[in-house]
Amino acid sequence: MDPVHALRRTAFLLEREQASSFRVEAFRKAAAVLLALDADEFDTRLGAGTLTDLKGIGKSSAEIVVQAAQGRTPERLAKLEDAAGPLVEGGEELRAQLRGDLHTHTDASDGGSPLAEMAFTAAELGHEYIAVTDHSEGLKVANGLDRGRREAQLEQIAALAAPLAPFRLLSGIEVDIGKDGTLDCPPDLLARLDVVVASVHSELRMPADAMTRRMLAAIRSGRMDVLGHCTGRMVKGGHGRVGEKGRPPSEFDAAAVFAACVEFDVAVEINARPERLDPPRALLRQAVEAGCLFTLSTDAHAPGQLDWQPYGCARAEECEVPADRIVTTWPVERLQEWVSTRRAAHA
Ligand SMILES: [Zn+2]
Repeated sequence: MDPVHALRRTAFLLEREQASSFRVEAFRKAAAVLLALDADEFDTRLGAGTLTDLKGIGKSSAEIVVQAAQGRTPERLAKLEDAAGPLVEGGEELRAQLRGDLHTHTDASDGGSPLAEMAFTAAELGHEYIAVTDHSEGLKVANGLDRGRREAQLEQIAALAAPLAPFRLLSGIEVDIGKDGTLDCPPDLLARLDVVVASVHSELRMPADAMTRRMLAAIRSGRMDVLGHCTGRMVKGGHGRVGEKGRPPSEFDAAAVFAACVEFDVAVEINARPERLDPPRALLRQAVEAGCLFTLSTDAHAPGQLDWQPYGCARAEECEVPADRIVTTWPVERLQEWVSTRRAAHA
């Protein structure tokens, strides 16, 4: 077994099980050190047992490397593989129909891994495409990208096209919806991106009428393709820092918001993160009734989280969301045609 693959796979499975990214990063760092090492030095250090003298390779990583180099599945990895059953019951049929993911973050904003690691992991999962949707500039807590960094990322995306083919890496953004409903990114830049996800991240407790006006203004701008995690709620006891304590959903006139999504051809995101599962059941059913389109996305902040789609699939199935109204079941050509048609009509 290739030691780099063994380390990456170990990290992936730990993240899939919701391990803290601190524990996981060590394995990826070790993989990166190995990749930069020439073959002779690797052999010498393997023989002498001095891999751990290298900065970035700790005891647990070295153990994995040694066992993989001996041609066997490392014990640690074998245990993880054995334990890696289905994450949730239900939604299998829908999961089989998903082709991509339109909400992912890299270490350019608040994710844990570089663009290439996210993209290759998505391809390994069998996805046909993902959009990288790092945060917009104003979201300082999440290290949002300014124009310069966004343009640098567009160049990185273009450079990865050939190595990833036929997998498609789409450009995107999770643009923050300001208190007055303005989108936190200049229109010319938004227009250059393949997918624009817009979400509320601040003042989630504002009065319902103000929140409704805010969301409607954003949707009616015509410049967003997807409404991200529409209530901002956090399930109590869920994964992550905020998830532990929970956070109530924000309040707004859902009938008006979903009607605007239909009118402006904006898809409502089914956010699959276990601590979000947003929209909650009643709202998701209401959006189905209203005739909305949907995305089903993981909001992954690490490669292993790209495999969290089943949480959203189970929820979508339970709320009887028709698969054909979930744009992430569509081939990339149909997806891109939908985006350009809706922008031509509304932006
Ligand atoms: Zn978000």
